[in-house]
Amino acid sequence: MSALPPSMHVLERGWLSCNTLVCTGEAPCVIDTGHVKHAADAVERVAGLLQGRPLADIAHTHLHSDHCGGTAALQAAHPGTRTWVPEPSLPHVQAWDEDALTFGDTGQRCDRFIAAHALAPGQSVALGGFSWDIHAAPGHDALAVLLFEPRHGVLMAGDAMWENGVGVIFPHIDGSDGFEPFADTLALIERLDPALIIPGHGAPFGRAGGAIHAALERARQRIDYFSAHPAQHALYAAKVLIKYQMMDVERMPRPAFMDWLARAPALHLLHQQHRPDLGWDDWLAQVLAPLFDKGALKAEGAEVVDGG
Ligand SMILES: [Zn+2]
Repeated sequence: MSALPPSMHVLERGWLSCNTLVCTGEAPCVIDTGHVKHAADAVERVAGLLQGRPLADIAHTHLHSDHCGGTAALQAAHPGTRTWVPEPSLPHVQAWDEDALTFGDTGQRCDRFIAAHALAPGQSVALGGFSWDIHAAPGHDALAVLLFEPRHGVLMAGDAMWENGVGVIFPHIDGSDGFEPFADTLALIERLDPALIIPGHGAPFGRAGGAIHAALERARQRIDYFSAHPAQHALYAAKVLIKYQMMDVERMPRPAFMDWLARAPALHLLHQQHRPDLGWDDWLAQVLAPLFDKGALKAEGAEVVDGG
């Protein structure tokens, strides 16, 4: 892996929380704050890195609940922090529109935070002592941005880029977009030619050994596969949403689990995209069986438990 500048620190905290970048130089900043479940951990680890200095800025690649769940707690710990969100998301945050912010549709949770600053594609923003170019990065999330620091070639990719595979293509679930924007975003990343990618989840990776090139190829193959087999994307998305919920709550009585599934609008859309020929119960049985078979979920007495 190419080296990060010494004042950049990546907090990698499993899959429920995204990677958090902490820049500890002049005007310290945090980019992406993790899941609300790990909010206290984010505050503690940021405090450890800043050693009493206040945070100047918090910025977000996109506003999924695993990327902005620590923001409210960081704001409380650092009053006066400027908070940046992708430009089209700003009115949604200010009105705290849970459906537009996707927490409603997916049945997820996130503490309310405030934001007053927009990350506008085509502009640059000074964060943590670096100048970051802002690029639109639709695909996984229609409103997401990439933050690219050209001097060191560091790309804060959010969920537009992982080393292995791709995230759920949320705009496809509600029918607002297809798979093409994701392919365009991958092409953009290739043109930017970063030296080091900080993905939304998983370890940072660089050009060494062709890792970025290989990751782009894997992502493209996955997008092409989903384009040709959209029902498989729906199945993948349903499994991801269910597993994500269980990583958050860890265990649920089976009736509450079934109730949560029934009340998540996104899962009903995915049912229609995957197997509209099946009734809801039969469809759920098909989706859940492999999660239990592979140990992603476990049945313990009357409870459904996250398999870790
Ligand atoms: Zn995301």
